[in-house]
Amino acid sequence: MIPAATSTDQTYDASQLLALDEQYSAHNYSPLPVVISEASGAWMTDVDGRHYLDFLAGYSALNFGHGHPDLIAATTAQLQRVTLTSRAFHHDQFGLFCKELTELTGTDTALPMNSGAEAVESAVKVARKWAYQVKGVPMDRAEVVVAGSNFHGRTTTIVSFSTDETARADFGPFTPGFHVAEYGDASAVESAITPNTAAVLVEPIQGEAGVVVPPKGYLRELRRLCDENNVLLICDEIQSGLARTGELLASEHDGIRADLYTLGKALGGGIMPVSAVVGRQEVLGVLKPGEHGSTFGGNPLSCAVGRAVIKLLATGEFQERSRQLGEHLHGRLGELVGHGVHEVRGRGLWAGVQIAEGGPSGKEASKALAARGVLCKETHDTTLRVAPPLVISRAELDRGIDAIAEVVRR
Ligand SMILES: *Cc1c(COP(=O)(O)O)cnc(C)c1O
Repeated sequence: MIPAATSTDQTYDASQLLALDEQYSAHNYSPLPVVISEASGAWMTDVDGRHYLDFLAGYSALNFGHGHPDLIAATTAQLQRVTLTSRAFHHDQFGLFCKELTELTGTDTALPMNSGAEAVESAVKVARKWAYQVKGVPMDRAEVVVAGSNFHGRTTTIVSFSTDETARADFGPFTPGFHVAEYGDASAVESAITPNTAAVLVEPIQGEAGVVVPPKGYLRELRRLCDENNVLLICDEIQSGLARTGELLASEHDGIRADLYTLGKALGGGIMPVSAVVGRQEVLGVLKPGEHGSTFGGNPLSCAVGRAVIKLLATGEFQERSRQLGEHLHGRLGELVGHGVHEVRGRGLWAGVQIAEGGPSGKEASKALAARGVLCKETHDTTLRVAPPLVISRAELDRGIDAIAEVVRR
């Protein structure tokens, strides 16, 4: 029997807390059996006082590490002032957040939301309306081309165009109007484009698919196809953006600009869920009052945290750290290829380590790493996703890489 969870003076040990999760929560995740109670910088501490190096960074939501002092200060100050107005009224953080975010990303209009999935939903809605109002697509015929093995979130519309059966099966009927073209193959996108195509939606690097970098020239080719066919290019930079790959946006590596970008994860500094669609006024300008919204989107607290995040990114320091540490990470992981590692993919401080056949599964490797004080998570069966906070030191990074080498080496 599990003790009642209502008592405030009762302390729970790790196994009791795990049992509470098991009994009272929906089992939509399969977490490692580690119960975190504190974190700072690149380190997390569990309820038994064990320390772990964070090699996942909340799927890149924690690019600036746990409890970055500037982010905590901005949040604390805003907590004392005003946290929510709803968009029924203006507040003094909103316009500044939008101005600073568009300046940072070289765009001119921002649509703040909360979760990443909401940003993607918002971009799809905007693209559809743009298709009817600007491009002249017949009503209810707009199409969006997406990539195979995509990950854009978990809502009913987004899973409608997922190619991952686990994410999709049992959740139909699905939203129509999406066409899948194999990732990395621009000619497949070309074949999928019709006069009714509103947008091509793509991750510049596919995170959940295993940190998959597309062939050189792919994004440029998509840009060209979109220009030629009057189609919007939407880059989902929710995981790849905001310094993770060594540039502000991963699409910068290919020297292209999208019409719309979706941002999320690190935009909230690991404190608040903050997302946004940013892009061109001619596109985002199609939205009129009442057509789209969110009670919490663009709230004062989120905007204050977001502004502090933008300030950190504006210096370029984190992009530079990601570039330098990333070079070191990929250099060292590259040495493991042929020694228990089949392939290492990625860019900057972001790597998909595909374990060679005969080695541990991704899940087994994650468990073995946890036992060595390093927390990361598999994606699919055989790939470890390595994405430490960008504040990690080189010595800490080496410590984590050493543990990976120990666990996978054959
Ligand atoms: C995480 C992610 C999302 C969804 O973000 P949530 O905040 O979990 O809804 C969308 N797109 C990409 C590329 C992501 O990595």
